[in-house]
Amino acid sequence: MRDPTNDRTLRAQLNRRARGFDFPGDRPLPAFVFEKLGPLGPTAGFYWLVSRPDAALFAVSFDQERARRHSCRVRPVVAPRFALRRAVPAQCILQGCAWLVDALELRDLGFGGVDPAATGRPAYHPSPMLKLYIYGYLNRVQSSRRLEREAGRNLEVMWLTGRLAPDHKTIADFRKDNGSAIKKVCARFVELCRKMGLLAKASVAIDGSKFKAVNSRDNNFTQGKIQRRQKQIEESVARYMSQLDTADRQTVAGEEPSETVLLTKTRLKEKLAKLEEEVKRLAAIEKALLASPDKQISLTDPDCRSMATSGRGSGMVAYNVQSAVDTTNHLIVAHEVTNVGTDRSQLATMAQAAKAALRSDNLDVVADRGYFKGEEILACEQAGVAVTLPKPQTSGAKSAGRFGKPDFVYLAKDDVYRCPAGEKLAHHFTADDDGQKMRIYLTKACRTCPLKGQCTTANERRIKRWEHEHVVEAAQTRLDQNPQAMRVRRETVEHPFGTLKMRMGATHFLMKTLPKVATEMALHVLAYNLTRVMNIVGIKPLLAAIRA
Ligand code: SF4
Repeated sequence: MRDPTNDRTLRAQLNRRARGFDFPGDRPLPAFVFEKLGPLGPTAGFYWLVSRPDAALFAVSFDQERARRHSCRVRPVVAPRFALRRAVPAQCILQGCAWLVDALELRDLGFGGVDPAATGRPAYHPSPMLKLYIYGYLNRVQSSRRLEREAGRNLEVMWLTGRLAPDHKTIADFRKDNGSAIKKVCARFVELCRKMGLLAKASVAIDGSKFKAVNSRDNNFTQGKIQRRQKQIEESVARYMSQLDTADRQTVAGEEPSETVLLTKTRLKEKLAKLEEEVKRLAAIEKALLASPDKQISLTDPDCRSMATSGRGSGMVAYNVQSAVDTTNHLIVAHEVTNVGTDRSQLATMAQAAKAALRSDNLDVVADRGYFKGEEILACEQAGVAVTLPKPQTSGAKSAGRFGKPDFVYLAKDDVYRCPAGEKLAHHFTADDDGQKMRIYLTKACRTCPLKGQCTTANERRIKRWEHEHVVEAAQTRLDQNPQAMRVRRETVEHPFGTLKMRMGATHFLMKTLPKVATEMALHVLAYNLTRVMNIVGIKPLLAAIRA
């Protein structure tokens, strides 16, 4: 291999070739500096880095054939610094990303690597790493391996990171190790939005959506799934045994079986052996499953759960992401990743998180009927949150064609219910129903009522009233007074979920376990909010707010 530093012919050739490149603001080339990079492969020869004092860099490759012909190939590999500046316009979202990270006190937020350790090589500073991740989540490049590639070839990323090109393990470790700090950055941006006046109205819509985990459906087990799989295996075993019998019958007694029969029998026996292994595997999984608290096991990501989705009969192995979205500008004010399949117990937590983020004394919340739970609505009321949500129709009487509870009117003044026959049901006693105090209302008039067949199958109709029912009624009254609330809810909260899922692509989360998935979601939410603010106010007010 020829060394251009010691070969005048090659140096002349190289100089001539390199001058052929049209670099903006080019000046007469001073002497090159050669630096050996090393072999690239068995046929590629060697690459040499050739740099100019103004940092324009080229790579020169030599292979055996070119070396013989005193020829080389020269191509730029890293653009000059001035070109990097030109690669990022002064008014683009990347400027907002860079300014935002530069304005953060990363040490106070809990990022590691701000202060180098006393020994060893200093770690990458969290600033370029955080910028790299925000860039990735803004541009649908969430994987650490793809971010590694972008850091080496993408001018915008080079500008953001100052040409640092960490390897994928370093990039992945940053996200893994700084989860709580990344979530704080997301919260800080919400605070910035509030200071910019983008969250002036204390009104949010709360909803949850299922986001796919990395765990496949085949690697998630419930008791029902195991039983179904065991049944399938039993059927397969019976089928293979029958095929074995058929193969045996094809051989006449006393004769050697043909080669085809032998091959068929070998194949069937292999399949039966595999099924036997599968039975043992399922038995071990069932044992672990029965010992787990929620009788469900996910083998790849232990925290995710099989959840029903809005599609009839469909489900996915997923996380349930809760979000509170501002009804004016559709910014995500608060979010939470859970592995609980239903929304029923999330309302108070999310409403209080949104109220804290908005720093408001009062808050209006609109949610769908999936959030209806008396205790949650009561907790919201006590926290100064006015909830608007419809009551689900779960009345068995109504579905059986009889009068439902909504057909009975509560008269607060007299503490009685008026029934469809005009009779008054008075309070008779109080019962404990699953920890809730229920007041029971009834009337003796039922026995002679002509509408009894449409009302009850018992001697008399009984109406239950929770001791805090007035809180639930107030939520329904708010909805009756504002029938547009449900449309506003849908338009508000479906917007960010749609955008987030579109950015995530076919696979939603890339990481495993709840804390890491929560970090990923915080980055997605930060990127969504950043884009949204840019779209609403533009870059200049954003930069001014960051500077302030
Ligand atoms: S059955 Fe009783 S509660 Fe029902 S309509 Fe008749 S009187 Fe009213």
